[in-house]
Amino acid sequence: MKKITAILAIVFFTVIVNSGTALTRPTVISIGTGGITGVYYPTGGAIAKIVNKKKNENGIRALVDSTSGSVFNVNAVMAGDLEFGVVQSDRQFQAMNGMAEWKKKGPQTDLRAVFSIYPEAVTLVAAADTGITSSLDLRGKRVNIGNPGSGQRQNSIDALNAVGINYETDIQAESIKASEAAGLLQDHRIDAFFYTVGHPSGAITEATSGARKVVFARIDGIETLLENFPYYTRTTVPIAPYPGVLNKTDIETFGVRATLVTSAKVPDYIVYTITKEIFENFEEFKKLHPAYTNLTKESMLTGLSAPIHPGALKYYREAGLK
Ligand code: GLU
Repeated sequence: MKKITAILAIVFFTVIVNSGTALTRPTVISIGTGGITGVYYPTGGAIAKIVNKKKNENGIRALVDSTSGSVFNVNAVMAGDLEFGVVQSDRQFQAMNGMAEWKKKGPQTDLRAVFSIYPEAVTLVAAADTGITSSLDLRGKRVNIGNPGSGQRQNSIDALNAVGINYETDIQAESIKASEAAGLLQDHRIDAFFYTVGHPSGAITEATSGARKVVFARIDGIETLLENFPYYTRTTVPIAPYPGVLNKTDIETFGVRATLVTSAKVPDYIVYTITKEIFENFEEFKKLHPAYTNLTKESMLTGLSAPIHPGALKYYREAGLK
C-alpha cells in the first residue's frame, strides 16, 4: 500500500512539474527609472505597459523600479541588478568613455544602447522672492544640485562652472532628490533647484503650483557649455504646461536626451522584443506621455554613444531604420 502511495505521489508530482513547464512563466525584466514625479518613472511604465500586453506571447514581463536616476541606473545595469535603465545621453557617453562618475572605474564597455526617447532640459527653478532670474544669481544661495546617482548633478555643476561658480565654495549646495526639492522650495528651505527632466513633469508642476511663487531661471554661459561638452544641445524650458510659473516666455537652457540602455549580457531576444514592441506600437506609445509629442522613429536613434545592442540592431535592420 505504501509502495502504491509512493508511486502515485511520484506520478502526481511529475504531472504537476510537467504542466508547470507547459505554462512557463514569463521572464521578468526590470527597468530602472528615477523619482516618481519625474518623467523616467512614467516612461518605464509606458514601456512596461506596451511590452506586458504581449507577455504570454513573448514570454517577457517588464517591471518598473523607481531609482535615484541615471548614474545609479548605469551602475545597476552593469552589475546585473537591472536589465534596462533610463539614462541621460550625456551620462551614457561618460559611462562609455570612463568620465565623470566613471573616471576611477574606467569605461563601462558592456553598456549597450537600445533607443533614445525624448529631450530633457536642464531646468533651474527659483523662488521669485530670492530675486534669482539667471544662473549668475546663484552665488551665495542655497541650491539643490541633485542627489548622488542622479543625472542632473553633473549638469548643475557644469552650469555653475560655466558662470564661474564653484559649487563647493560659492553656494550652499544641497544633494537631495528632485522629488523632494519642490517641497523644500515651497517650505523656504532652499532658494532654487536644478532638475534635468522632460516636460511636463510632476516635480515641476508641484514646484510651480504652491503658495511661494517661482520662476524658471535662465542658464548663462550656454556657448561655453556647448563648446566644452559634445553631448549638450541648446533647448528651452516651456512655460505652457506650468500656468503657475511667473515667466512670460520659454526659457533658454541646455539639454540632453533620455535614452534606454542595457548590458551586452542581456540576451538578444529580450532586447529585440522590447525594441520591436515599442516601435511597432509607436503611435500608442507616443500617447502615453505628453513629453513624447515630437517623437519620431528616426529621433529615437539619435543621442546614442554606446554600441547599439545586437537585439535592438536586429529589429532596426528588419524595419529598415539602420
Ligand atoms: N534626468 C534625471 C536623471 O538622470 C531623471 C529625470 C526623470 O526622472 O525624469 O537622474
